[in-house]
This record gives sequence, structure tokens and C-alpha cells, in this order.
Amino acid sequence: MRRELEPWLTGRTVLAAERVDAPPGPKYAGLEGLPGHRIEAVTRRGKFLIMPLRGPASTAGVDAELIVHLGMTGVVRRTPPPGHLRVRVAFDGLEPATLYFQDVRRFGRFTLVSAGDYRSLPTLASLGPDALDPAFTVGGFRRALAGSEVAIKPLLLSQRPVAGVGNIYADEALWRVGVHPLRPARTLSRAQVVALHGAVIDVLEESVALQGTTLYDYRTVNGEVGSFLERLAVYGHDGEPCARCGTTLEKLVVGQRGTHVCPRCQVAPRRRRTRRAATRVPSRTR
Ligand SMILES: [Zn+2]
Repeated sequence: MRRELEPWLTGRTVLAAERVDAPPGPKYAGLEGLPGHRIEAVTRRGKFLIMPLRGPASTAGVDAELIVHLGMTGVVRRTPPPGHLRVRVAFDGLEPATLYFQDVRRFGRFTLVSAGDYRSLPTLASLGPDALDPAFTVGGFRRALAGSEVAIKPLLLSQRPVAGVGNIYADEALWRVGVHPLRPARTLSRAQVVALHGAVIDVLEESVALQGTTLYDYRTVNGEVGSFLERLAVYGHDGEPCARCGTTLEKLVVGQRGTHVCPRCQVAPRRRRTRRAATRVPSRTR
């Protein structure tokens, strides 16, 4: 999405911004201040699209940012959607352009903030390094996992050790490296951390190259479906044989999210071990 928006929007100035059927609250805050701002760039951190803006009265460059998050069903379009339109933004330019933000289930976000002011976006403020950024290193990833009592999949979904891994990509990356989603993050071996670091990058790069995964609503800005769905090995394939070992894939719920595993390739952690760790009493006699 970022790659499509960058050549289309960079350098354009907003003529009008209109909330259509947008829910009240901070997710659509500030849009009345958008007209007159010029889009300086289209950047991304994790699952947040961030467009630095220069306002009409700005003397010091970028003074605001437009933040877009698709939530579960958000779609950014060049043409009017058949329904569930939340925001419409008109831009100047030789060829006039209008951007439409459609969101069926209303988990998305389309917010104008002062540059760098993420107080209304706690997830963005606590985001780890982006998975496709060189700042995402094995060493940093290892430290983030080693210091966590949380199971590896919910920790990935928190976006704190690395930004950009959603539910589908967490399942795919963990299956590729044979790590069960419930394994406490700190119990992964050094080799498993190295493998998972690589698998996260690989899965996301492969998906971006195929324009993402369209399960239901997702479309590219030009209205096409993302075709990574055909490459999914485990997500949505419960009841089918594992491509690696033939064992029937299973679906479980981890942290309220549908989670897909091969019970043979991804051995579940032993309960005894986690219980003992949870009940260990720290010594106060030292
Ligand atoms: Zn398997």
C-alpha cells in the first residue's frame, strides 16, 4: 500500500477532507485540520502508514502527520467504495485525485497528529523496530525475547520486539521455524531466535512482493487482491496435512486469536515447566 501511495500522493496538497460515516473518538481526530497540508512523503512503521505533512503556515518543514492503520478491514482506494466509506480526501495536482478510506468493521484509523505526537496512539509509541528495517537485528530481537515471560506469539503480536507481524504472518513464521506459539519467548534457543528473525523478514518480504494477503476485504490501492494467500502454509489450513511432515494441521486459540499449528513440527511446551516458573518465589534473603 505504501509503495502504491508514494508516487500518487507525494507532493500533493489536501484541498478538502471529509469524515463520512466515521465513528466518534480519537481514531478519526483532527481531519478538519488537514486541508492546506502538503504530503511530503509516504512512510511506514509496522502496520502504521505515516505521511509527514507540511502545513500552510509552516516555516519549519514537517509540522503534522497523517496516520493510517487498516485495522482488520480497512482499504485505501482511488475510487468510491460501494459502502462503509469513512473518509474522503481530495488533493490538488495536474490530475485531480481523491482518496477514499473504506472500513467495514471500524477497527481502522485515519488520524491527523502534530509531528511525532503519538500520545493518542500507544501502540505506535511503543512500536519495536520495523521488520524490514536494518534496525531489526538478531541481537535486539534476542534481548527482547529473553526479557519476556509472555508466549512467543502474543509477544510478536504486541509489536514490541518487532513491528509489522500480524496474526497470519506470526503463524506462518512460527511454523517455518518449528516453534509452538505458546512457547514462552525466553525459552527459545539462540538458533531458534536466529531462525525466527529470518523467517519474519522472509514472510513479510514475500507477502509484500505479492501485494499482501487478501482473506476477505483487503485490496490494493488499485483495487487488486493480494495473492500471498496462495502461499500460506499453515494459516487457514487446519484439517489439512502439513506440507513438511504430513501431520494434520490444527487450529487453537492463543490470546483470543485463531492460531494454526502443526502439532508435530511445533511441539507444545510442557506445562510442568511453565507452572514451576510461574510459582517460583524470589529469594529475599540475599
Ligand atoms: Zn508438520
